[in-house]
Amino acid sequence: MAIKRKIGGFVLRVNPILCDGFGHCHELAPDLVKVDEWGYPIIRTTPSALSDVEALESARYAVRGCPRQALRIERVSDL
Ligand code: SF4
Repeated sequence: MAIKRKIGGFVLRVNPILCDGFGHCHELAPDLVKVDEWGYPIIRTTPSALSDVEALESARYAVRGCPRQALRIERVSDL
């Protein structure tokens, strides 16, 4: 019997109280973050696989680049 290995994923989370709504995160991670008409982020809710190095690096880039430290990466166990 084959053992199925679950690969975890991640999503970006935004703290709306800290966010200033200038939309810098969209510029840093356009595949993960869209912005609404006021510039506030609309985060993709579908988890990305942790093995997706490009998406993970993009998320890390956005977290580091957020001037209000309003973003964090949250791990999810299942995709
Ligand atoms: S970069 Fe940070 S503060 Fe700016 S819109 Fe994105 S989450 Fe909000």
